[in-house]
Amino acid sequence: MNINDTLELAAFRAEVRRWIAAEVPPALKGLRQGIVQGPELDAATLAPLDAALVRKGWFAASASREWGGGGLGLVERVVFEEEWSLAGLPPRYGIGTDLLGPILERYGTEAQQRRFLAPTVRGEIVWAQGYSEPGSGSDLASLKLRADAVEGGLLLNGQKIWTSGAHKAHWIFLLVRTDPNPRRKQEGISFVLVDLHAPGVLVKPILTLDGFHHFNETFFENVRVPADQIVGEVHQGWQVAKALMGHERFTHPTANPAVVERMIENLKQAAREQPQGGGAVWDDPALRRQVAALEMDGDCMRYTRYRSLTRIGKGEAPGPETMIFKLFGAELDQRIVELHQQVEGCQGLAWGAEPFGAIAGETAVHAAHIRAATIRGGTSEVQRNVVAKRVLGLPEVGVGSD
Ligand SMILES: Cc1cc2nc3c(=O)[nH]c(=O)nc-3n(C[C@H](O)[C@H](O)[C@H](O)COP(=O)(O)OP(=O)(O)OC[C@H]3O[C@@H](n4cnc5c(N)ncnc54)[C@H](O)[C@@H]3O)c2cc1C
Repeated sequence: MNINDTLELAAFRAEVRRWIAAEVPPALKGLRQGIVQGPELDAATLAPLDAALVRKGWFAASASREWGGGGLGLVERVVFEEEWSLAGLPPRYGIGTDLLGPILERYGTEAQQRRFLAPTVRGEIVWAQGYSEPGSGSDLASLKLRADAVEGGLLLNGQKIWTSGAHKAHWIFLLVRTDPNPRRKQEGISFVLVDLHAPGVLVKPILTLDGFHHFNETFFENVRVPADQIVGEVHQGWQVAKALMGHERFTHPTANPAVVERMIENLKQAAREQPQGGGAVWDDPALRRQVAALEMDGDCMRYTRYRSLTRIGKGEAPGPETMIFKLFGAELDQRIVELHQQVEGCQGLAWGAEPFGAIAGETAVHAAHIRAATIRGGTSEVQRNVVAKRVLGLPEVGVGSD
């Protein structure tokens, strides 16, 4: 990818910009924090936008046009995200559209694609992801949820945890243990699709530090799963799981430099508005140096991502630098929000709007929420192990999720 758009990309960028100007309800533009989940964003608020995106085919921007998606390649997808974020819109990231969709396109049978992919791309089926279990997070392959072979399919017994949005989702994709005594723990795992309203499924809420109901514990007691809901070969689910994790490297909002740019703009605005010693916090050169350092780190991430996209655009394999996007992006997000909180002082710690006015509380909620960035989708420690092993060729020191 060139840093300057090609003619085709410039035309596509203009199309996205025009569409956003014409179709996005004004109330959704310019949200202050640009976070995925927050007090301003709920399904009802986003519903008109989602409906317009489905009509345009961009609800699942990367899915094939054959299934109703936007058919965008990786580079176009990045341009789409950049424009989206510059318009002040919340990052678009769907468990069904961004994680499961590409897997169903690659590993699903035609019947599975017709039954699940098309409605997912239209936003009619909402998905949850059932990977983590108590005791099996970073060391995911040690998972234990039992799936015994029975006539016509599998019988599930066990538990998942940290299942984001399972209380709002219709279906869940799960990694389950179909062979309790494999040679290697990565073997004997299968990837299955389960109706969250099937008999024997129980979703129990877990409330988080930021005050939201985002997570759940999800229990499975004698849940029957027909054989046609197994994706890929039985016992070969680890291959499917690894392919799914690969998609997160580019699509997850923590790896999106446009989101970082907006967070820094918000921080600068807060520093200009926050009074200090007859002027504003922004007048302090030490603070401006800290902001400049964050901006430079954001630029490093942006250009490193462009370098990857250039390789991919030429048909080459993604380079080792892709391993650091999530690690670097998540830690950068946290550094930006921490400085934002310092800039706002007491106001940045306030949990509710009183007595500081309408925006108070947002930063504190964001700061609590952003702690999750270095845990979800692989913790920073585990990401560093992966970089040490695969990129730097250092000897293995612990258990990773591969
Ligand atoms: C916001 C959010 C959303 C999530 N959504 C989902 C979801 O929808 N579905 C789902 O299945 N899961 C989800 N998760 C769970 C997430 O994938 C796990 O939390 C993550 O993989 C870490 O696993 P764990 O919590 O079991 O921690 P553990 O693996 O127990 O780790 C505990 C600590 O030990 C460290 N550690 C572990 N192994 C090593 C090692 N080898 N070397 C060095 N340090 C190590 C970790 O870095 C961490 O600090 C979500 C998590 C968050 C925060």
